[in-house]
Amino acid sequence: MNQETKNCKNCKKDFTIESEDFNFYEKIQVPPPTWCTKCRQLRRYAWRNERTLYRRNCDLCGKSTVTIYSPNKPYKVYCNPCWWGDDWDFSSHGKDFDFFKTFFEQFAELQREVPRMALLNKNSVNSEYTNHSGENKNTYLSFSAFDDENVMYGSFIFKSRDCMDCNRIQEKGERLYETIDSRKCYQCQYGIFLRDCSSCFYCYDCHGCNDCFMSSNLRNKSYVFRNKQYTREEYLKKMKDIELSSFIVREGLNKEFTNLIEQDAIHRYVASERNINSIGSLLYDCKNVAKSFELYNAENCKYIYGSTDIKDCMDCYHLGFNSELCYEIQGAVRLSNCKFCHLCYDNMNITYCDTCQNSQNLFGCVSVKKGDYMIFNKKYLKADYEILKDKIIEHMKKTGEYGEFFSPQISPVCYNETQGNFYMPMTKEEVLAKGWHWEENVPGTFSKETILAGAIPDKIVDVPNTYLNEIFSCIDCLKNYNITKNELLFYRKENIPFPRRCPNCRYKRRFDLRPKRELWHRQCVCNKENHGHEGNCQKEFETCYSPDEVIKVYCESCYNKEVY
Ligand SMILES: [Zn+2]
Ligand SMILES: [Zn+2]
Ligand SMILES: [Zn+2]
Ligand SMILES: [Zn+2]
Ligand SMILES: [Zn+2]
Repeated sequence: MNQETKNCKNCKKDFTIESEDFNFYEKIQVPPPTWCTKCRQLRRYAWRNERTLYRRNCDLCGKSTVTIYSPNKPYKVYCNPCWWGDDWDFSSHGKDFDFFKTFFEQFAELQREVPRMALLNKNSVNSEYTNHSGENKNTYLSFSAFDDENVMYGSFIFKSRDCMDCNRIQEKGERLYETIDSRKCYQCQYGIFLRDCSSCFYCYDCHGCNDCFMSSNLRNKSYVFRNKQYTREEYLKKMKDIELSSFIVREGLNKEFTNLIEQDAIHRYVASERNINSIGSLLYDCKNVAKSFELYNAENCKYIYGSTDIKDCMDCYHLGFNSELCYEIQGAVRLSNCKFCHLCYDNMNITYCDTCQNSQNLFGCVSVKKGDYMIFNKKYLKADYEILKDKIIEHMKKTGEYGEFFSPQISPVCYNETQGNFYMPMTKEEVLAKGWHWEENVPGTFSKETILAGAIPDKIVDVPNTYLNEIFSCIDCLKNYNITKNELLFYRKENIPFPRRCPNCRYKRRFDLRPKRELWHRQCVCNKENHGHEGNCQKEFETCYSPDEVIKVYCESCYNKEVY
């Protein structure tokens, strides 16, 4: 089929469905989308409460548990041991499908009846405050964390240990603090796009470096200080004069680092590496990938956000670990041939499911733990299952529901609790006008601090152990926060001043430093004389840096001439 222009049902703007997209829709037998690419991602964001955590009593054992559902949400919420335990039966909530009602209407009813998992945190030890995570040990307030040990306040951290306040560690991060998009790094602080680096502080886009400070675009260098090469002795002497344990000094260094990124650093048009025939930003080891963001090790994928190890997928958000043939998924791992699912791990052939695990052949199910051939949590014989499933799909095509991800109207979380609040913020009025939901009682207290920010000692050595029992107030948002023992030990060991900002503001700062999940058309800004172009380079490209960002965005060839 040729490409087709449609009007988005949500934003009412025209959008294009490209010809190869139709092949995929045909292959998985879904009608083409009626929402544009951006709105489809917005709809998935509306389902992902990654980091707004509450305490609430388990509706089975009564014990207090950490959960993504505020106490006022109309669901039964079970703590993880209870949800996985044998004291309840998901099939006892089975329902017959009513062809006089819409699918989503009946699905919302089922969601209110079947117990929900407090949060998604599988096979972990002493990691109560982790969500969308698994296989962790002693990990705290971290999200999308897998195979980690002693990681705190991290987001998207894989196979790492002893790291704090980092976003995106692809693998083997150790003793990292405030790094963004790193891979195989050791003992670095405040770094962006670092690979195979150790003991680098305030460095941007450096590979294979050690002992460098406040520098950018370095390859295999040591002892570079403020982008100037020194001998080992000179470097160590210069570093000695920088009091890294002082909060005042660090605030100055942060400003200097921002200036370095904005004025001196060269930015490759997209931060991506080792890809074949792929378009998007922050792609690594991808082949035939289009219009995707933050994707590792993928093949034949399009419109994917924040995913890893997937094949033949479209329109997925946080999908991972050997998943294939998936469409419109949010928050899932190890899926094969699945469509329109939310929070589902380890499944095959499941469609329109929420929080289902270790199952196959499900349609319209909620919280199924290990099921086969079920529709609305009711078990069927294989042949009956296929007939009824096809009948429901026909019904959904008539109601206009088939082919659409779950509406935010029936999302079990409110928009201001979700990642949408960061990536595509909307006001309360805008959210309510769409019939979506807004949480009034988000977690957090104000004015309960027992120590004022101004009274915290400048250097970490002067911070006493009693601070473990104190409450602090964030200098940016004024919200209260406290610290854990592991955290204090980390600050002391790594010579980091006591934080004056709450974990969320720290996350927000890193979030703002990362490239956006969007592509803009732009021209290379290089005007170097020895590059073979006269005056400005004329190359154009799709870049993750918006034209409003007045920074040095270079095409591949100019970047390579300057950096390698
Ligand atoms: Zn739209
Ligand atoms: Zn319980
Ligand atoms: Zn704050
Ligand atoms: Zn150029
Ligand atoms: Zn050039």
